This record gives sequence, structure tokens and C-alpha cells, in this order.
Amino acid sequence: MIPAKFEYEVAESVDHAIELLGSGKDAKLLAGGHSLLPLMRLRLARPELLVDIGRVSDLSYVREDGDAIAIGALTRYRDLETSELLRAECPIVAETAGLVGDPQVRHRGTIGGSVAHCDPASDAPTILLALDAELVVRGSGGERRLPVAESFGGFLQTALEPTEVLTEIRVPKTGADGWAYQKSVRRAQDWATVAVAAVRMNSSVHVALTNMGPTALRAGGVEEALSGGADPAAAAERAAEGTSPPSDHNASSEYREHLARVLTRRALEEALS
Ligand code: FAD
Repeated sequence: MIPAKFEYEVAESVDHAIELLGSGKDAKLLAGGHSLLPLMRLRLARPELLVDIGRVSDLSYVREDGDAIAIGALTRYRDLETSELLRAECPIVAETAGLVGDPQVRHRGTIGGSVAHCDPASDAPTILLALDAELVVRGSGGERRLPVAESFGGFLQTALEPTEVLTEIRVPKTGADGWAYQKSVRRAQDWATVAVAAVRMNSSVHVALTNMGPTALRAGGVEEALSGGADPAAAAERAAEGTSPPSDHNASSEYREHLARVLTRRALEEALS
């Protein structure tokens, strides 16, 4: 289908984008366009104004900042996948970026767009949730920081304000080992039917799930079992606790629950080995 009529403005900077978002029109930011434009073509999104931030080049970077790695919101998957810094300090982000869609998607799609789009089938929100990532967001009232979990509003709904721009994502340095992302797909380059991230963080293990509810979710039952001394197989049995996986043409909700348990066991065995 053809999108509904919209106006289009190119933002020259973050401040310019914030100004355009505050114009009083139903405005949306456009980053890589790989999630928003399909929704507009289906007329599931009908913004009056698209504010294109794709050329704000100072939002595309990966750099060290104290204990964290700072990632600009407009950094594309391809740049994450090939970042030597991420490969050394937080490899789950680089590896998972390489699993997103196909090369065309990875050259256009941005990590910030993925977080703000809040699709439970997306990979980046799950990884960032497992890492307890922090977001830096800017609006007309200034800058604020929030845990990534607080940015999830619901299915395809961000909790960020409509006039705010996500500028940076901060992930901890995990070191080279102690992580895994197990993604089950029906066909190569597909979205995850279900996926599981496991990351060893200090003395605990964080586990997060893709496509097991309206947003990326932490597997609280698994984490609790592990901290109580359970082995990976026993802990993984609790992977579907508190989830509400969808039933669709890829899998029933029961099958997704089964997949979550199997993939969690594999992810834990890999991360803890
Ligand atoms: P856009 O589509 O430009 O924007 C998405 C939403 O985020 C919009 O609402 C927009 O207003 C908002 N937004 C964008 N940037 C910001 C910002 N800085 N601050 C605030 N709001 C912002 N994803 C996966 O995770 N795994 C896959 O396997 C996968 N496969 C795909 C296969 C195909 C064929 C396609 C088309 C997409 C696939 N994707 C997949 C989605 C892809 O990763 C998207 O590009 C990404 O999720 C959104 O990033 P974007 O830059 O394209 O965002």
C-alpha cells in the first residue's frame, strides 16, 4: 500500500529535531526507516510530519566512556557488528547486530530506532535489557537518563515522550566471555520466533527473552533459580514463567514456551561454560 500523505523535514541537529517534533503536528522521527516505513505503508502509522534524523552524523559512534561503552542512537547494525571496541568489551552487542535481518537491513537500521520502535521480536531491546543498558534522551526540557526497561511502553509503544530524541545507549563492559544469544528462526535472516540472551554480570546472570510478550522481558524465574544455586537445566525450566507469548503463523504460544525453555538452557550453558 501507499502511505497516507505526510510532510517531510530534514533535521540538521538534535536540537533542530526537537524543535520540529514540538511543532504541534503529529510528528515522528525517521532514522533508518526500516520499521516505521513498513508501518506507514500498511497505514498502521499515519504521522503528519516525518522528521528525518538520518543525516545527524554526530549521533553515530561507538566509544569508551569510563566503565561504559557509549553508542550513538543512529549507529547502524553494520557499524556495531564491525566495531573492534564492542567485540573486545561488550561482544554480545556486536554479535547480535550481525544476526539482524539481511545486509541491507543492517546497513540502514539503527540501534536507537530498534529501541524506540519497541518491537518484542527485535533483538536489540532484549540484549540491552539483559545488559541493564542506560538510555540518554534529550527533549526541550534538557537531557535525562533512564534504564532501558523504563523505555518500553508496550507492544510497538515506547514510553519516551513524543517530543524526545534518544541520543545515546550506554552498555557496561562485560569482557569477552560469559554471554550468549540463542535465536530461533524459521528461515535464515528472519525475525526471532523466540530468542534468549544470557549475560554474566558481576556475580549474577541476567536472562532476557525476545518475542515472549508485548515487550522484551527479563526471565525473572530463571534468574531467581540461578541465584538460588540451580543448574542451567533446572533454571531454564522456569523460562516461560510470567510470559505471554503470541500465537501466529510462525509458532503457537505453547511452542514458544517450549522454545524459551530449550534456548534458555542452551544460552546458560554457553554463557557459563
Ligand atoms: P525507524 O524505522 O526509522 O524508526 C522506528 C521507530 O523509532 C519510529 O517510531 C521512529 O520515530 C523511532 N525512532 C527512531 N530513531 C529514534 C530516536 N533516535 N529517538 C526516538 N525515536 C526514534 N530487527 C531485528 O531486531 N531483528 C531482525 O531480524 C530484523 N529483521 C528485519 C528484516 C527486515 C526485512 C526489515 C525491514 C527489518 C528488520 N528488522 C529486524 C528491523 C530493523 O532492525 C529496523 O531497522 C529497526 O528495528 C528500526 O531501526 P530504524 O533505524 O530503521 O528505525
